[in-house]
Amino acid sequence: MPLDTSLLGLPGFRIVRWEGIETVRIWVCYEGPVECPHCQGQKLRLKDTRERVLRHASMGLRPCMLILKTHKYRCEGCQRYFNQRFPGIGAWRRSTEPYRRQIFVQHQEGISQKTLATRERLGSATVSRWYQDLLDRKLRERQNDPCPRILGIDEHFFSRKDGYATTFCDLGKRKIFDVTLGRSEKALHPYLNQLVGKDQVRVVCMDLSTTYRAIAREHFPKALIVTDRFHVIRLVNQRFLEVWGQLDPTGRSHRGLLSLMRRLPKNLKPQQEARLREYLKSHPAIEAVYAFWQKLGRLLRIKHRTARQCRRLIPIFLSYLQELRSSGFAPLRQLGETLESWKEEIVRMWRFTKNNGITEGFHTKMEMISRRAFGFRNFQNYRLRVRVLCGS
Ligand SMILES: [Zn+2]
Repeated sequence: MPLDTSLLGLPGFRIVRWEGIETVRIWVCYEGPVECPHCQGQKLRLKDTRERVLRHASMGLRPCMLILKTHKYRCEGCQRYFNQRFPGIGAWRRSTEPYRRQIFVQHQEGISQKTLATRERLGSATVSRWYQDLLDRKLRERQNDPCPRILGIDEHFFSRKDGYATTFCDLGKRKIFDVTLGRSEKALHPYLNQLVGKDQVRVVCMDLSTTYRAIAREHFPKALIVTDRFHVIRLVNQRFLEVWGQLDPTGRSHRGLLSLMRRLPKNLKPQQEARLREYLKSHPAIEAVYAFWQKLGRLLRIKHRTARQCRRLIPIFLSYLQELRSSGFAPLRQLGETLESWKEEIVRMWRFTKNNGITEGFHTKMEMISRRAFGFRNFQNYRLRVRVLCGS
């Protein structure tokens, strides 16, 4: 690559001279081919020459200006006049693409619109317009992405005015596929109807939401629905903690004990384990419930199994369900009913490893995007930003 090209970040330009300490001024001329933009003709007559001054990407902390010699031509082929065009510089623009990209990156990395505008002597509307332009362009590049093979569906809160939004996550490639407003069947219908390549979806991962299950069955007929391990285990834990609260309200409200009960036994230090064992020994009813809770949890955390291994596990799971549904505690009976209605989707978890933990992580990132913009009023602006920043 010629030195001039790599210095400027623009192809085909030659540096004539430069000067400046505060602001760097670079005189350049273009040495690439020129052709008529109307008919691609190469037979041209030179009519006029002038200088164009362009803002260019900074050299370190110093602002940089390009002074570019540009020509006006007449095409001998089609007799039309035109001003010379250059790669990396838009028609009529007073700044180069590398400079616009610089502003985009700086704004994205957290420098506020106002700070950038003052520092770069731009209008603050210009900063936001350039930012939006580049976002739009990046989005257009991946406009027709087909549906992912492994899709995660989850909801997240958007705003008090518009309520909840639904996230569609590409769990295989670990990126956001799309976000759309609403979480009910009615709200999601128009969006899902226009989606292309729905047949390609093989697995849909979701929390225990019957709405999402109905949607997935209708719109992704070829996909297997799998529950999300994180949500299933969270539900199990909630119900068991309720039972504990019924059996021993004082113990349940003790924060130290609560932390011991919620932890996986293998993560307990010997001292903590001894303390928990002591507590359980003095409450035999809770001990029995705790043992069952851990047994169920271990079963639900299984992954990477072959179909044959799963077949051996299914009777165990069914017997646990039976035990839950005939339990003397209302929260456990309720849990039994829920798990019963999701048993196929839960059993599939053993075969898969992908789960909505990825989506949950993106929700944190999306919250940061929203907070950095001091909240979004317009959902489409939010969607654009989420798709570009979390989607590649
Ligand atoms: Zn022409």
